[in-house]
Amino acid sequence: MKKFVMIHDENLCIGCQACSVACKNENQIPSGVFRVQVHAKMKGVFPNLQTDFTRASCVMCEDSPCVSVCPTGASFKLANGITLIDENLCVSCKYCILACPYNARFLNPITKAIDKCTFCYPNRVSDGLTPACVSVCPTDALIFGDINDNNSEVNKVLASKSVEYPKAHLGTKPKLGFIKNTKGGRYE
Ligand code: SF4
Ligand code: SF4
Repeated sequence: MKKFVMIHDENLCIGCQACSVACKNENQIPSGVFRVQVHAKMKGVFPNLQTDFTRASCVMCEDSPCVSVCPTGASFKLANGITLIDENLCVSCKYCILACPYNARFLNPITKAIDKCTFCYPNRVSDGLTPACVSVCPTDALIFGDINDNNSEVNKVLASKSVEYPKAHLGTKPKLGFIKNTKGGRYE
């Protein structure tokens, strides 16, 4: 059984938002709401400034609070680790929005259902493609693949680099990890 994992290498990210735009195009996300964004945070004192770029999206928790609280079964997990939403079962109670520690969910003003990143599973990954964000990233800052495939790129990165997980102390076991920025995004 495949288990999908994504890693955002913050050292390679240039904050171009191509991932966010590609996601919107691929998934027809209306203006004003996002499944994926990259946030920029500047630190240091001029001229020694550094910008950290962090990805904000669903982190595909293994133990998902959104699934636990959903009263209708609209929020559910696939065996491959991806959490999805069945729009037909969603009653827009917003319990999942409150339960998500990553602020990853929003009300889609078109569908009137709750929406979030799906790793593009229904529309791309199930056909053997990579998620739209991964496919357009100009610096290969996003690495995606099957953790159960020993030869996958994602496994090589996990074996060779220090990958951290957002709010790991909560015990939700995210499947979206990041490599902390140590040198990228500097203005010199
Ligand atoms: S497309 Fe790649 S480099 Fe651009 S913001 Fe997204 S992750 Fe960063
Ligand atoms: S808003 Fe929809 S997906 Fe979220 S908890 Fe309620 S029924 Fe489930």
